[in-house]
Amino acid sequence: MTTAIDKKTPVYYNYVGGEWVESVSKERMESFNPATGELVSYSQKSDLNDVKETIHSVHHSYQRSDWAVNPKRRYEALLGLARKMTEKMEHLARILTMEQGKTIRESRIEISGCIDTLKYFAGAARTVCGRSIQLEPNNFGVIVKEPIGVVGIISPWNWPALLMIRELAPALAAGNGVIVKPASLTPSISVEIFKLIDEVTDFPKGIVSIITGPGSLIGAAMAKSDKIDMISFTGDTSTGKAIMEMGASNIKKLALELGGKSPNVVFPDANLDKAIPVIGKSIFISAGQICMAGSRVLIHESIKDEVVARLKQFAEGLRVENGLLESADMGPLVSKSQVEIVQNFCEIGRQEGRIITGGRQITGGQYDNGHYFSPTIIDELPASCRVVKEEIFGPVLAVQTFSNEQEALEIANDSDFGLSAGIWTNNLNRAMKMTRGIKAGTVWINTYNKNFPEAEFGGYKQSGLGRTRGIDGLMEYCETKHVHIETD
Ligand code: NAD
Repeated sequence: MTTAIDKKTPVYYNYVGGEWVESVSKERMESFNPATGELVSYSQKSDLNDVKETIHSVHHSYQRSDWAVNPKRRYEALLGLARKMTEKMEHLARILTMEQGKTIRESRIEISGCIDTLKYFAGAARTVCGRSIQLEPNNFGVIVKEPIGVVGIISPWNWPALLMIRELAPALAAGNGVIVKPASLTPSISVEIFKLIDEVTDFPKGIVSIITGPGSLIGAAMAKSDKIDMISFTGDTSTGKAIMEMGASNIKKLALELGGKSPNVVFPDANLDKAIPVIGKSIFISAGQICMAGSRVLIHESIKDEVVARLKQFAEGLRVENGLLESADMGPLVSKSQVEIVQNFCEIGRQEGRIITGGRQITGGQYDNGHYFSPTIIDELPASCRVVKEEIFGPVLAVQTFSNEQEALEIANDSDFGLSAGIWTNNLNRAMKMTRGIKAGTVWINTYNKNFPEAEFGGYKQSGLGRTRGIDGLMEYCETKHVHIETD
């Protein structure tokens, strides 16, 4: 539910036990439009009392309703939400752009992705299958998949709708009760989606809740709670590590989707007409605030000058402006502090390498109230440079050079992360050799950023734990029980 305290700015409430409730303390948080600095909404600044109440309410609903054992109800509920989101597509996309800053075209893609994910997992809810095995002449095993119980979902701000739904849909499809804690920079879009959940009568009252508030308090309380059986976290690797420690108290099941520093590897036989715009978009989409951003480009030395020149031309051709304008190719960064982080990395790049283009905040006129940053390419960086090693989460592309396949593999894998990679070549043997050698959860060949609810996604190394999407993504939200039958 929303009300407006100044008749203009919406106030979002927590959704607990199937009701819209104010936080116990009645304190509120504000969220702002990163393109203009304008106030977008107020939401509840929940505290530990709210967390306790919410956990109790979801437990109650999980135990009293037939949700865990009624796949057809779960199918209808998820499909119902997909229909509601389809009806509200443009409304949701506009709120997403106003609060997060991404372009309206990208917001439409994000909301469509939510709808597609809900439809896929609606169907999957009816296929939560185990298996059976004959073990001995009189012994038969039935392997049953069951929901885990109460799941806490903690989401980030960069793709706040899709990354919430990406976990919410399989968690609910598997029959769990769920508490969502969205990022504090982007509560509005998440609560707007819950307003639609409230309209779908197939969800038992209280089976799914949302509470807003600071991650260091609310998220941490969820991670520590002995009454939450699993945490699904998407966010920064350092927060993921802290959650692993906090979840240890009750050996909580964890699914972690963390950061990346993904390479696009370009060989001399690549189709550059296709590769250049895709590689450019892979880093400048969402102004680089995307976990699988192609933030490193590894170029064969024989084509380096040409590829860098063409990427520079691509970056300089992008229209950076308020995401609500249909013409925008790239919106602002999400916050002032994000600009400062990116600016610092660019300073390091300036000192240790060579800025090919960008490297500065965009100011003046319409830009002064927003957090705009120019699409940036940096070359000639040492392999140990922080710009090459760390996730920047901004529109900054680091250029690296190789002379043969082995060296390309070594450079691609010289990272603490292993989320994704792109290989650009028309030689199938080379593509397969690189694919097997690269330690990443997703490898795209002659494309990038193609994601589907039916195809697993997740990280090697410090990019995560477990898989989201696809059958494995559904199974993350299930326990496995062996039922053993002995006959006479
Ligand atoms: P973040 O870790 O700062 O915050 C993520 C969520 O965790 C937010 O809801 C936040 O409130 C909460 N949180 C913060 N501190 C917490 C704590 N101590 N205990 C519990 N919860 C806490 O991440 P972010 O800045 O919102 O998102 C950017 C990061 O997310 C990047 O590193 C990006 O790569 C990663 N990411 C990964 C994926 C993926 O699928 N692998 C997708 C998107 C983003």
